[in-house]
Amino acid sequence: MVRYHSTRDNLNIKTASQAILQGLSEDGGLFVPDSIPPLPYTISDMTSMSYQDIAKAVFKEYLSDFTDEEIEYCVDSAYDEKFSDDSIVPLSQVDGDYYMELYHGKTMAFKDIALSILPYFMKVSAKKNGIKDEIVILTATSGDTGKAALSGFSDVEGTRIIVFYPKDGVSDIQKDQMIKEPGKNTYVFGIDGNFDEAQSGVKEIFSDAVLKEKLKKEGFILSSANSINIGRLLPQIVYYINSYVSLVSFGRIKDGDEVNVCVPTGNFGNILASFYAKLMGLPIGKLVVASNENHVLSDFFKSGEYDSNREFLVTNSPSMDILVSSNLERLIFHALLGSTSQTKKYMEELSSDGKYKLPFLSMDELSDFYADYATEEETVEVIKDIYERTSYLIDTHTAVASKVVRKYKESHKDDDRVFLIASTASPFKFSDTVSKAIGIKEEECDPYNLCEKLSSYTHFEVPKPICELKEMKVVHKTTCKKEEMKEVVLNSLIK
Ligand SMILES: *Cc1c(COP(=O)(O)O)cnc(C)c1O
Repeated sequence: MVRYHSTRDNLNIKTASQAILQGLSEDGGLFVPDSIPPLPYTISDMTSMSYQDIAKAVFKEYLSDFTDEEIEYCVDSAYDEKFSDDSIVPLSQVDGDYYMELYHGKTMAFKDIALSILPYFMKVSAKKNGIKDEIVILTATSGDTGKAALSGFSDVEGTRIIVFYPKDGVSDIQKDQMIKEPGKNTYVFGIDGNFDEAQSGVKEIFSDAVLKEKLKKEGFILSSANSINIGRLLPQIVYYINSYVSLVSFGRIKDGDEVNVCVPTGNFGNILASFYAKLMGLPIGKLVVASNENHVLSDFFKSGEYDSNREFLVTNSPSMDILVSSNLERLIFHALLGSTSQTKKYMEELSSDGKYKLPFLSMDELSDFYADYATEEETVEVIKDIYERTSYLIDTHTAVASKVVRKYKESHKDDDRVFLIASTASPFKFSDTVSKAIGIKEEECDPYNLCEKLSSYTHFEVPKPICELKEMKVVHKTTCKKEEMKEVVLNSLIK
C-alpha cells in the first residue's frame, strides 16, 4: 500500500487523500510515494484499454485509501466531453517522432489533464477525512495553471480558488482567460512581480501558521493546485503510459522497445511524471529536459549545481519562465537515494543562498536525464521550419522541445529511439509569436483577430474556447504588490 511522506522528513507520513488535501508538507517539503508501484498491467493487456481505463488502473495503484468506486467517479467526471478529442491525448507523427497533444482540454494547455481531475480528488479526500471546512485553493501561475485551475474548480461546491499571476508576464489570451473567469467562487489578482515572486508569496502564506489559524476559525482550509500537489503529478503519469501503449497498438514500435521523451520544462512536474512512469517499468530511454533562456535546469544537469542567482528573462515561452523549479526537489530526493536530511540540507541552501551543488555520485543517479535549451530565435525558427515542411503547427513551448530534440540527435547519432515529445499548448494560445514565425506579416494587436488570421492561413480551426472567450466580460480587475498578497487573501475570504 502506497503512502506518502515529505521529501524533508520520512517520519511525516500521510495517506494519499491527506497528501492531496494538504498539497505541501508542513516542513516545506513535497510529498513523495514511499514506493513506486509496477505498471498495473502488461503493455499488451493495456492495448485494449481506453485512456480512462488506464487512468483508473494507475490511480488504483497510487491512491490506496480511495475505493474503486471513488476512483471511477473521479476519472469519469474529469475525462469526458470537456476534451475535444475522444482519445484525450492524440498523437501526431512529425519527422519520425510523436507529439503527444496534451492541449485538447478546456484551457488548451497540458495542465488541463491534471486540473480536470484534481477537484474531484479533493472532494473525495475531504469527505474521507471528515473535513467540513471550505477548501481554498491558493495558486501562483506562470499563465496556464491559473486558468486550468480556475476552470477545474469553478463553481465546485465546497471550494474557492484564489489565483495570483505576474501581471506583465502572461500572454494576452492567458490574461483574458483568467480575468474573465465567471465562476462565483473564483478570485484572480495580477501582481507586480514575476512568477517566482508570486510562487514564493504563496509559499509564505502556506507556511504562516497565524494566518492559517485565522482562516480555520472562519471555516476555511488552504490547499494548493500547483504542480507540487501529488494529485497533479499522478494524472500526468497516465498519458506517458497511454501514449506508449498507443504506439504499440498502432504498430509504430514493438512492445518493449524504448522510446525517449522530451518535455518543455518549467516547474519540473511534467518530466517528473515521465520519470515515475519509467520507474514503474515503462520502457523509456532518455528523459530530455528542454528549457528556454531561463536555463537554470539545463545548467544543473550539466554541472550538478543549481544556481537561481541570475536574471529572470521574460521569453516567448512564458509558462517556462521559472528560476526555482519546485518539483525538482522530488528528483533531488531520489538522486540522494531517499535521504530526507540531505534533501532538507540542499533545499535550505537553495532558500538561503539561491543555490546548491550535488555531489558527483548523486548526479550519476540522474544519468538517464539529458538537458539543453533553446533560445527565443531558435524557438521561432523551429516553428517555421516544421510548419513549412510538414504543415504541422506547434506552440512556442513545444517548439523549445522540438529544438532540444534536434540538438540531442546531433550529439547522439547512434541513438535511433523514437521520441515522444510533450506538446503542451495549442499554437493558438500563443498566436502572436506563432503567426510571426510562419510569416503572417500584418501587425495585429487584437489577439482574437490574429487567431482568425492564423486559422485562415493555416486551415487549423480556432479552438472553441478562444471563440467563446472573446465574447466574455472582464470580471477580475484588481492587481496588488507582492507584500499585499496575505492581506488580499484575507480580504477575499473574510468580508
Ligand atoms: C506549465 C507549462 C509547461 C511547464 O511544465 P512543468 O510541468 O511546470 O515543467 C510547459 N509548457 C506549457 C504550455 C505549460 O503551460
